[in-house]
Amino acid sequence: MLDLAIVGGGPAGLTAGLYATRGGLKDVVMFEMGMPGGQIMNSSEVENYPGIKEVLTGMELMEPWPEQCMRFGLKHEMIQVVSVVRDGEHFKVILAGGKEEFAKNVIICTGSTPKRAGFDGEAEFFGKGVSTCATCDGFFYKNKEVAVLGGGDTALEEALYLSNICSKVYIIHRREEFRAAPSTVESVKNRENIELILNSKVKNVYGDAMGVLGVLTVDNDGNERDLKVPGIFTFVGMNINNEVLKQEDGSYLCELSKAGEVIVDLSMKTSVEGLYAAGDIRILAPKQVVCAASDGAIAALQVIAREH
Ligand code: FAD
Ligand code: NAP
Repeated sequence: MLDLAIVGGGPAGLTAGLYATRGGLKDVVMFEMGMPGGQIMNSSEVENYPGIKEVLTGMELMEPWPEQCMRFGLKHEMIQVVSVVRDGEHFKVILAGGKEEFAKNVIICTGSTPKRAGFDGEAEFFGKGVSTCATCDGFFYKNKEVAVLGGGDTALEEALYLSNICSKVYIIHRREEFRAAPSTVESVKNRENIELILNSKVKNVYGDAMGVLGVLTVDNDGNERDLKVPGIFTFVGMNINNEVLKQEDGSYLCELSKAGEVIVDLSMKTSVEGLYAAGDIRILAPKQVVCAASDGAIAALQVIAREH
């Protein structure tokens, strides 16, 4: 029986593991289906993590975290968690392949994943010109023109990153106003090789067997524009990864908001004793690395208090 099972190994899960093991919990396993680090690993520029003076990529920021967290006994199992269910007073963690683990406490840190925008050709050309990761794919478009879809922090920050590599970046946004931070909007407006295509949607992406050849946009008045770009980066928000909480009968293990976020109190406690949620998965998450890490620490300290 584990003292603590942590589901997800982004900033929240890793920090929960650090605090739990350093605080004396013995059997703590972090189940992370990929490399630890979380979604920030896809970011090309992070400049708001406290204490870091220079701008780092997400990978650079997260690189030291696993080693630090595992120094105190945290174990990482690289496997997908299928679901977490009640087992009397405890929890059963059901893993891919049917294996099961039992835990006295569980912290859910599964974060979020990029949404699909839903235009024609998005699925067909995904990975062949349609991308959700500028750090991963931006270099393929060196000195070429690309499009970016979305008007939030991610879209604008990644458009700025792409504008350093690509000859031109078109930002397509469905409204006049941006959701991103004002300073980021300002930087975008001052960047010479970024053109804004506002009040517009992507009608479709077209191409051939080799990949994307262009993007057709349409504005609110029905005017179409044909952008001859070989790539489009879509940043249209995130889906909350709450599937692990789904039970056989379709209900969820604990209370969720209408948007699917886990409802927690200020101690990261959910509606179920011994079950906690931390980071982007929880209600009203500021969706910041520093906040996810803080949540993870708070949840772990609660588990320690419960066990001692
Ligand atoms: P995540 O980082 O989403 O980690 C969740 C982890 O859980 C993932 O590693 C995933 O593989 C794993 N997982 C999910 N489901 C399962 C399962 N069933 N079984 C096992 N493992 C599972 N924040 C900032 O503070 N500054 C920035 O500059 C910034 N830039 C960003 C740029 C981009 C492009 C993006 C996408 C986000 C950015 N953010 C930024 C937000 C930041 O990345 C998140 O707030 C933070 O990563 C949330 O951490 P988390 O641990 O809650 O979740
Ligand atoms: P977001 O804030 O939800 O923005 C999504 C954008 O995509 C919005 O502009 C939205 O338009 C648009 N959109 C949504 N669905 C669309 C569709 N089907 N077609 C076209 N456009 C669509 O998502 P995000 O930018 O990924 O940010 C997620 C969270 O992470 C936010 O809380 C953000 O602040 C945070 N984050 C922070 C930083 C940072 O601190 N530096 C960096 C990145 C992300 P509307 O505006 O019209 O709704």
